[in-house]
Amino acid sequence: FLTVTEDLALFQAKKIDDMISEDREISILAGIPMAVKDNILIENIKCTAGSKILENYIAPYDATVIKKLKIEGCVILGKTNLDEFAMGSSTENSAFFLTKNPHDITRVPGGSSGGSAAAVAGSLCIFALGSDTGGSIRQPASFCGMVGLKPTYGAVSRYGLIAFASSLDQIGPITKTVEDCQIVFDLIKGKDEMDSTSVEMPEIRNSKFEIRNIKIGVPKEYFVKGIDPEVEKIVKTAVKKYEEMGAKIEEVSLPHTEYALPCYYIIAPSEASANLARYDGIKYGYSVKKAKDLMEVYLKSKEEGFGAEVRRRIMLGTYALSAGYYEAYYLRAQKVRTLIRNDFEEAFKNVDAIFTPVSPTPAFKLGEKIDDPLTMYLSDIFTVSVNLAGLPALSLPCGKVGRLSVGLQIIGKPFEETKILAIGQALEEYANYKNS
Ligand code: GLN
Repeated sequence: FLTVTEDLALFQAKKIDDMISEDREISILAGIPMAVKDNILIENIKCTAGSKILENYIAPYDATVIKKLKIEGCVILGKTNLDEFAMGSSTENSAFFLTKNPHDITRVPGGSSGGSAAAVAGSLCIFALGSDTGGSIRQPASFCGMVGLKPTYGAVSRYGLIAFASSLDQIGPITKTVEDCQIVFDLIKGKDEMDSTSVEMPEIRNSKFEIRNIKIGVPKEYFVKGIDPEVEKIVKTAVKKYEEMGAKIEEVSLPHTEYALPCYYIIAPSEASANLARYDGIKYGYSVKKAKDLMEVYLKSKEEGFGAEVRRRIMLGTYALSAGYYEAYYLRAQKVRTLIRNDFEEAFKNVDAIFTPVSPTPAFKLGEKIDDPLTMYLSDIFTVSVNLAGLPALSLPCGKVGRLSVGLQIIGKPFEETKILAIGQALEEYANYKNS
């Protein structure tokens, strides 16, 4: 936790206690202790985004998701650690401190929502909110053995989420069970007039839903070199379990998968460089004490306020957007993004869901990749396509290498969150299925 919101928690708890003693009806989440990634605004509470540049920033309003959860009567315990501005895969890019994996404290919890995933895994709260731009809910959920949902782009309002890459960002829940994930998702989703990209979820009826009626696609491009053999084995065993339960398994092809990572690492930094332009040392946030002119205020405030990874992304993004390079990088990446989206559309003509690993390895060691950004970026290989295509995806524990959890990624068609959650729940209930 970067901030513990004791007063807010006690206030909410007291309110719910009073309602209970007055025999009033309360919501399903009333009194439930939860945590919030520190890039989601809570009125009058510090919001740092894991950055020195916002070290003393007090949020002036509630994010829409927070407004909704407060109405439900959730008890917000505090703000969780993250990679600075959600840029990273291990939470080691936080400007403040390291978060460790509760299952093995020599390892990372994943990132960027590492604090949220560790808090749920460590039973410090029942659920937490994270944000996912390229895997930041799914990968830490997977590393910590929790359930994480990245909703369809537009399903959950982004109002009050500190922007990283606006065409990719989504808020979602990290929980212990699939059922909890569905409950939280149902309460935070929906159109919000404060976010023009948000939409009302179309009603999708799943009346005939049964595992033996579904077809699962397994993309051949996702089981290639670089993936840990243990991870591959565990994920394939999970796929077998679905086959035993009666699902049809089919190989599918997502031919542009190899371009997803380069495409993401052009688009995300480009959008980030535009979004982060607002931290200029004038409007809000850190401002350098001594400077000879306005230009020096801008330059020095950014230089001293932002960490190395954030500065790297700003440079990559600014370069990709600059005159003369725009067509070769940004525009080309946008075209590749369309191809990646089309791949999924094509595959989803034949299958109900697509199964992949969440990450090529289980939780890695603290310090193992932090000095090599390219290796760190490579760990996002299975998660970024989903954001580029705007699809919903669930991360679900499906086995272990020693103490370390391995996650199965279940990708769905747009707005079919409920379906992928139901598919996920079948794996949780597989043991019952075996015994029945
Ligand atoms: N690890 C990815 C990145 O560093 C994704 C981060 C995220 O989803 N916020 O950009």
